[in-house]
Amino acid sequence: MQPIAATASGPEPAQPLTPGNMAQPVLEPARDTADAAPEPAPGADVYLALDFANSALALPGGHVIDLLGTPDSANQWLTMHGLAPDDAGIREMCAAQLRSLREQIRALLAARVEGVPAPPTALAAVNDALVRSPAIALLHWDRSTGPYRATPHPTTQILEHALAALAENAAELLTGPDADRLTACGSPPCTRYLLRHGRRQWCSTRCGDRARAARAYARRTQQA
Ligand SMILES: [Zn+2]
Repeated sequence: MQPIAATASGPEPAQPLTPGNMAQPVLEPARDTADAAPEPAPGADVYLALDFANSALALPGGHVIDLLGTPDSANQWLTMHGLAPDDAGIREMCAAQLRSLREQIRALLAARVEGVPAPPTALAAVNDALVRSPAIALLHWDRSTGPYRATPHPTTQILEHALAALAENAAELLTGPDADRLTACGSPPCTRYLLRHGRRQWCSTRCGDRARAARAYARRTQQA
C-alpha cells in the first residue's frame, strides 16, 4: 500500500497548503483492503451498481487495487454493501463471477456514456444475473421421507442474490433519469464512473487535483 498524501483528499476546491488547513481530517472511508482508495465517486452512494463498477481502482504508477480480487475482499465488499453476511463463505469461483459481472456492467456503462449500442454479451450477462435470482425453493424428493422444498446451497443463494441485486441496480441506473449524468472520470489513469454534478467530471478530489496538476504541467512545458 502506498501512503496517502493528506493533501490529496481535502475538500473541493483545492486549497493552498497552509498550516491552517493541513490539520483537516482526511476524509477516507475506513476500508482495510483499500487504504489507498479515494472516497466513493459521486452517485456511487446512491447506485450500488456504480460503486460495484468502480470496485477496481487504477492508480497512478500502474497500481491496481481490486476490491473483489480475493474471496475475502469480495466477501468484505458484499458485506459492506449489505449483500452478504461477513461469514458468507465466498469462494474464488464466486469472486470470479462477481468480477465477470462487473466487467459486463462496465461495458454497458461505457456504451451508455459513449452513446453506442451495448455489446450483446454484456446485455446477456446482466439479464442472466437477473433471471437467476433465487427467490423460489425447488421441489426435492427424499426416498424415505418424500417430497420437500429447499433453496439452493446458502452460499450459492447469497451470491446469486447479490449478482441479481447488482444487475437490477445497473438496469435501473441505465434506464432511469440519472443515466444522462453518467460519465467516466476525466483524470487518467482513473477508470471510475460517476454521476456528473455541474461541470465536475472527476470522481474524487484526488483525481481533480491530479488533472489540474497535469494541466498546469502541460502549460509550463508548452511555454518553455
Ligand atoms: Zn477518478
